[in-house]
Amino acid sequence: MAGAATPQETRTHCPYCSLQCGMTLTGSGRGGRDLEVQPWAEFPVNEGALCRKGWTAGGLRGSRDRLTTPLLRDRGTGELRAASWDEALDLVAERLTGLREQHGPDSIGVFGGGGLTNEKAYQLGKLARVAIGTSQIDYNGRWCMSSAASAATRTFGIDRGLPFPLADVEEADVVVLVGSNLAETMPPAARHLDRLRERGGRVVVVDPRRTPTAAHADVLVQPVPGGDLALALGVLHLLLAGGHVDTAYVEERTRGWDVVADSVAGWWPERVERVSGVAVAEQQALVGLLAGAGRVVVLTARGAEQHAQGSDTVLAWINVALALGMPGRPHAGYGCLTGQGNGQGGREHGQKADQLPGYRMIDDPGARAHVARVWGVDPDSLPGRGRSAYEMLDALGSTTGPRALLVMGSNIVVSAPRATHVAERLAALDLLVVCDLVLSETAALADVVLPVTQWAEETGTMTNLEGRVVLRRQAVPAPEGVRSDLDVMAGLARRLGSPVDFATDPEEVFDELGRASAGGVADYSGITYARIEAEHGVFWPCPVTGDGQPVHPGTPRLFAERFATPDGRAHFHAVDHRGPAEAPDADYPLHLTTGRVLAQYQSGAQTRRIAALPDPGPFVEMHPQLAARLGVADRMLVEVGTRRGTLRAPARVVDTIRPDTVFVPFHWLGVNRLTNDALDPASRMPEFKVCAARVAAA
Ligand code: SF4
Repeated sequence: MAGAATPQETRTHCPYCSLQCGMTLTGSGRGGRDLEVQPWAEFPVNEGALCRKGWTAGGLRGSRDRLTTPLLRDRGTGELRAASWDEALDLVAERLTGLREQHGPDSIGVFGGGGLTNEKAYQLGKLARVAIGTSQIDYNGRWCMSSAASAATRTFGIDRGLPFPLADVEEADVVVLVGSNLAETMPPAARHLDRLRERGGRVVVVDPRRTPTAAHADVLVQPVPGGDLALALGVLHLLLAGGHVDTAYVEERTRGWDVVADSVAGWWPERVERVSGVAVAEQQALVGLLAGAGRVVVLTARGAEQHAQGSDTVLAWINVALALGMPGRPHAGYGCLTGQGNGQGGREHGQKADQLPGYRMIDDPGARAHVARVWGVDPDSLPGRGRSAYEMLDALGSTTGPRALLVMGSNIVVSAPRATHVAERLAALDLLVVCDLVLSETAALADVVLPVTQWAEETGTMTNLEGRVVLRRQAVPAPEGVRSDLDVMAGLARRLGSPVDFATDPEEVFDELGRASAGGVADYSGITYARIEAEHGVFWPCPVTGDGQPVHPGTPRLFAERFATPDGRAHFHAVDHRGPAEAPDADYPLHLTTGRVLAQYQSGAQTRRIAALPDPGPFVEMHPQLAARLGVADRMLVEVGTRRGTLRAPARVVDTIRPDTVFVPFHWLGVNRLTNDALDPASRMPEFKVCAARVAAA
């Protein structure tokens, strides 16, 4: 049982990443004062540890940039002016109704976020499909882990980032991190790697950069950006050639192996070295580690996933884990390290273009009937599959695309690929409505800005990277003039003539969400706020049980007996190799890759406003050899160019990066003007992680 917080404390979770560290908040927050953050030592995920972002999160309350009144763009001056809530919501409803009558419901788009609580994500899907009637809804999680979600669903029949608690990795013999910089993105998680190594286990990091995570590793493999697919094919080739495939496991628990075995026959080490940049000896050393290990965990993150072939890259690494016989074994298997705070829950409750709550597919008639029953509407009234996130943005303002967009929990103009084009599409809209805490770069372009509550001012649940549903309790009242997103949605639904009511109480919404998810893949129906608080979170699936039956305990570990596919087996998928959509050439001879820094989060809309967090602005990391060739010194201003745009920023000359690659962090407006919008065919994930670039002294 969780111990009670003292009366002046509120137990909650961090506003940022998918670890959802437990913390306690103290202070009234009155007069815009900061809240004080203390770790919550008993919460098992972080055991009292917090990163710098978490320690300083109380500063969000005191931000001077906080919006406290709706803003409308004045047609005469073109400036934003203060307005009342009724004026703002009436105007939005009137404009949306007019567009819907003239151009149909799909003329309205809805764009959500992976940081929204489960309740908001659920309600946003319902708002789009019931109150507006549009199929055009998707969210920024499409740009986060959708490739891993696609691959895991195809292989295991279910997508839960980690199918086991994160602490399980401590008991593994080898952990392979592919494209994850967890020591910088979620530092408390690195202690699991350290404990594993104290036990004698080994950690392998696969990353084009020697990030701070490499300090927690025994082996660093630095492929060229986008080279990790070829590396995985080569690893499987060597495992097979060396007789290290667990044939009994493959026979009993999988299907499709023969085709996969044939498909890697041509991936001999010299070819892999040529394509991936990983030397033959390094490949052999990696395979030697894997072959001798009884328990192997393979974890992917954005470095492997944010590619135009990201789903195939993940499939290739899952094939490695399956060939070794790991998924479903204790302290072994495959998992994806989700990034955004509710990256897991945000994709389960209906804000994806192709899904209904419970992780049900929107074109499944049974799923439509079930969800429509919970919503109290006719299943035939529900729209079908819409466009994916980038495809919807690309179509904005066109003759067939949305003419209005409602954005909740996302700062698109900073975080979208080919961001200049996206800003142009936003400018082509008849109406842009943004709900946010502050005037983010996207909100600054809006016709209507609606000021909403932030994490400490509202109650709601999040689902962390382990599939653990946690509860954030409201700690302080919202500032006057600010409303919750649930209130905004209810107010809009009513004005749009919704056939059903929209609840505003988070617990009521959560109970409805549970009913909508019942029987689905991500079943929350047996989870209650009281259980979450008493049990330090509850893992889905957790179905409700009948009267007199014991409550379902939740499911921390999946796949022990069977996989979630119809035949209970994991399905191998053969993968054809494709390189990145853009290869370096004479004009753009380098690879550009992007990522995070410790003190900033996502588009930086929140963390850049925390005075205690360093805000260095974008910089261009490059190897001393490259710097010497270009005549660039450390801190000198350089210009990075790609086929989509340019960015000027100071150089950081470091020997932790490949000489053929430059790195720019993405927390500021700029680098995503350069990134490529080539999409993965299965997940529709843009290729954020690599494109061809050139660099010169500015
Ligand atoms: Fe924990 Fe992530 Fe918050 Fe840091 S940002 S305190 S790692 S939840």
